[in-house]
Amino acid sequence: MSAAAIAAGSIIEARYWQDKLESTAAQLMERSNDSAIEAALDQTFQANLPAHELLSRACEAAAESVVLPAAEGAANQALLVSIPLIAWSKYPIASGPVDEATLAPIRAHLFAHILADGVRAHISPFLYAIEQLPRGFSETRKLMRKLTQAALNGTSTRPDSTARESEAAEMPADARFLLVGVVAPVGAPIFLWQQDAQNEAHATHNECLLRWVEQCRPSLAKLVPGAAFECGLPDAYFHNCRQCDLRVRPYMLNSSLELVEDSLKVPASEIGVVVAGVGESRVDEYRISILRKGTSQVVHGVVWPLYGAEDDDEAPSPREALEAIFKEHRVGEVIRLPGTQTPEFCEDCGAPLFYDPEGEAVHAEFPEESEPPPVHYH
Ligand SMILES: [Zn+2]
Repeated sequence: MSAAAIAAGSIIEARYWQDKLESTAAQLMERSNDSAIEAALDQTFQANLPAHELLSRACEAAAESVVLPAAEGAANQALLVSIPLIAWSKYPIASGPVDEATLAPIRAHLFAHILADGVRAHISPFLYAIEQLPRGFSETRKLMRKLTQAALNGTSTRPDSTARESEAAEMPADARFLLVGVVAPVGAPIFLWQQDAQNEAHATHNECLLRWVEQCRPSLAKLVPGAAFECGLPDAYFHNCRQCDLRVRPYMLNSSLELVEDSLKVPASEIGVVVAGVGESRVDEYRISILRKGTSQVVHGVVWPLYGAEDDDEAPSPREALEAIFKEHRVGEVIRLPGTQTPEFCEDCGAPLFYDPEGEAVHAEFPEESEPPPVHYH
């Protein structure tokens, strides 16, 4: 079906296929049949990449949005939205239940600076780490339905057991999300930047983000006490997941460099890094080994994944982005391994292995005499 959608000769036909794909995906999700969805995604990934891309988008749409038929009057469209934060700290970054006193001003700013007039919204009283987000499309759709129903009825919700029972991985930099169910009449704008788009004076994405940061930042800071953070624009759930994947990387690398400097008690000029392009046939990720300059014991490692169409032909390339961070951080030595390394993992714990200056894959380990950092990967 997604291959037929790619071949559509008109927008009318493409829309027909798009609706079919979405409604089929939604039916599978209602039956919690994630395995059928995953199988279709796998199959198109092997056979037809553009069709795969289209199918992925249809599945995301079915998981994060729904049209609610009205008993009378206009039907409503419901969307799962997230309020993203990228936080970094030497200490564990907060996640979990959020009290109403913290949530109330955030809700007010969301209505004032992000959502279009007349949109209804309900924020789940829980700060989600990535590990606590719903797993798979069906669970996402279930949560979307719950939060948007609460928005429609003006009722309250409790976080799901998956969220409450999962622990956030302790990373030096990580994403956090508040999840919001949002409801508007079909055809009406959901976000402020959609409203009065024909009018010159309408607010752009960027203006909304600026106002959001200016007004809401002090309230958002209460969610992640003791951490530095950057706030992203509240927007659709899957879009923000992808944005955060991209944006967390530089903070992760910077925090990890600082972590090693702190625990070895040396300045950045005494730190060396080894950069290896890793993948089966092309570079899928960079693995960055951090060590004391002039030695070969890898103290800490950072994975810098590449997403979608990212590769070294674009500008600035991922490699250039890395180099810029090393330069800004004044790292003492940068060793670039030539070629592409095959991905290797520890046989005991599954952790990714990192490359020493000679190109040998090793387990990253803090030396015993140094203060171990307050993070654990396994
Ligand atoms: Zn291991």
